[in-house]
Amino acid sequence: MLTRIDHIAIAVQNIGDALKFFEDALGVQLDHTALEEGGRTQVAFMPVGQSEVELVEPQDSESGLAKFIAKRGEGIHHICFEVDDIEAALARLKDKGAQLIDETPRTNTKGMRYAFIHPKSAHGVLIELYQKPK
Ligand code: ZN
Repeated sequence: MLTRIDHIAIAVQNIGDALKFFEDALGVQLDHTALEEGGRTQVAFMPVGQSEVELVEPQDSESGLAKFIAKRGEGIHHICFEVDDIEAALARLKDKGAQLIDETPRTNTKGMRYAFIHPKSAHGVLIELYQKPK
């Protein structure tokens, strides 16, 4: 079951530049930055109510994210839904014929489990599912 939009991720060329808009002009507050994907992606999280905006900046010109920006420019990269049971959600998607990028969940530096669904199966939107650590 989907319980909430956890975050909306925006692909940017440079987080420092993007924060001039998001922090200074729009007024959202930076909570933290981190390196993810084994150092290939810099991320910045800005809480907004029960959800967050995540800025994602490629650190490696060969990464999927770098290619995304090269091809499509900056913009919304993915939407992340919180689920109460990520295995059950992935099994259901697979059963319904959806194309999964991750058949089994990945784990980030904070121990949170997440998995991506291919945009081909989701009307052009990369979707991330995320389950809170128990
Ligand atoms: Zn994300």
